[in-house]
Amino acid sequence: MAEAPLRVAVIGSGPAGFFTTEHLLRQERPVSVDLFDRLPTPFGLVRGGVAPDHPKIKSVTRVYEKVAAHPAFRFFGNVTAGRDITAEDFARHYHAVVWAVGAETDRRLDIPGEDLPGSHTATEFVAWYNGHPDFRRCQFDLSQESAAVVGVGNVAMDVTRILASDPDELARTDIAAHALAALRASRVRIIYLLGRRGPAQAAFTNPELKEFGELPLADVVVRPADLALDPATRAALEANPDREAEKNLKTLHGFVERGLLGRPRRIEFRFCTSPLRLEGADRVERIVLGTNRLVPGDRGVQAVPTGEEESVPVGLVFRSVGYRALPVEGVPFDTIRAVIPNDRGRVLHGPGGTVVGAHYVAGWIKRGPSGVIGTNKPDAAETAERLLEDAARGALPTPAVPAPDAVHDLLRTRGVEVVTWADWQALDAQEVAAGAARGAPREKVTDTGEMLAIIRGARQRR
Ligand code: NAP
Repeated sequence: MAEAPLRVAVIGSGPAGFFTTEHLLRQERPVSVDLFDRLPTPFGLVRGGVAPDHPKIKSVTRVYEKVAAHPAFRFFGNVTAGRDITAEDFARHYHAVVWAVGAETDRRLDIPGEDLPGSHTATEFVAWYNGHPDFRRCQFDLSQESAAVVGVGNVAMDVTRILASDPDELARTDIAAHALAALRASRVRIIYLLGRRGPAQAAFTNPELKEFGELPLADVVVRPADLALDPATRAALEANPDREAEKNLKTLHGFVERGLLGRPRRIEFRFCTSPLRLEGADRVERIVLGTNRLVPGDRGVQAVPTGEEESVPVGLVFRSVGYRALPVEGVPFDTIRAVIPNDRGRVLHGPGGTVVGAHYVAGWIKRGPSGVIGTNKPDAAETAERLLEDAARGALPTPAVPAPDAVHDLLRTRGVEVVTWADWQALDAQEVAAGAARGAPREKVTDTGEMLAIIRGARQRR
């Protein structure tokens, strides 16, 4: 008799979920994977996070489409794990569950005025311009002339670049139509990009920095004094040469040499500065910055305040200081690191609960919000290998109801409208066709109800 497939549920169809699925389906032993997502659309941050003007990064979806074509793959879109299907249900229907749910919220600055109108998280803005259904109604007052972006990671670079971009160029991307219209009307002219440490410690990568130099509407301003290396940085770079930091310093020097070109917008870097508070009567009117100096510390070069302050008028603030994962119902959570405690992907008993059934983690919920899309491939492989090892030594519980159709039946009885891969393909085709009208790769549908209506229409035609 043929070996019964190992049934795995993967939760979250972003890079971590898809790379885990790919690894599991590549095995000789039969494995079937049901990939769940709370949205009707797949691809997680590739759809909802990667900047619209970075189509090459998004082309990884072609790899995921090949994974989805595997006969042992099924997509369960529009299904919220923990609500529509519980941890107990997963244990009844699957040998193992892999949580690849990413990091859905943001770290906070914890400074006065952080919640004033006009102060936003960068991730909200990103999700808005990428047409994420939960963020389509967000409002950003782009009538303001100055904005500050706090943090100098790649998300901060994306936000700054989108604010400084030529809307005619953005129109040729898959940016959400509501965001394109708002950005066309934008009056934002100055964007301060604030790093608490120096340029050698910036988290952005060099291609993203160089892209600023190619923005047709924006000058890039760097204070020459910010580029003079302090003793702590010099010693750190001598001890541990950092190619990326060297490239970034060279690019920043290039911006100083280039000077102002008389362009209508300005990106202004400020290093060694931390926001102390946001001030304004009813909304953000200014950001008060504290100057830092750099000193050697346990975790590399650290910023310490000098006590000097400066007030900069801004009407918008985007806090871009990193994502933070949310706990998953029924699974332990390390609230300090904001990850599910795990050993190379195997969920461990720990603070927040004991695990029932076989649970694994991959991606940002496993290791924290760092790395590029490709980082998730080895990360997912590590997790999938632990799962397969456990299966090989007979350590996985046998599901009480292994019949594949039982999951669809269960969700149907609960009134959940499951979006299958064929459904998504129909929506995808519609988005691509609509995008062609404006010379864009796609025009995203941003409302879940509208997505489902398109899908139902396509089902009737099938
Ligand atoms: P990130 O790379 O971790 O950067 C966070 C930034 O926030 C750092 O500059 C950090 O400074 C700063 N920060 C943290 N706490 C702060 C505070 N209290 N005050 C001031 N600054 C503070 O995070 P991210 O930009 O959200 O990106 C997440 C991951 O996605 C990264 O791995 C990134 O490379 C990746 N990503 C890649 C791309 C791309 O490939 N194009 C695009 C977007 C995102 P310190 O270093 O001093 O802590």
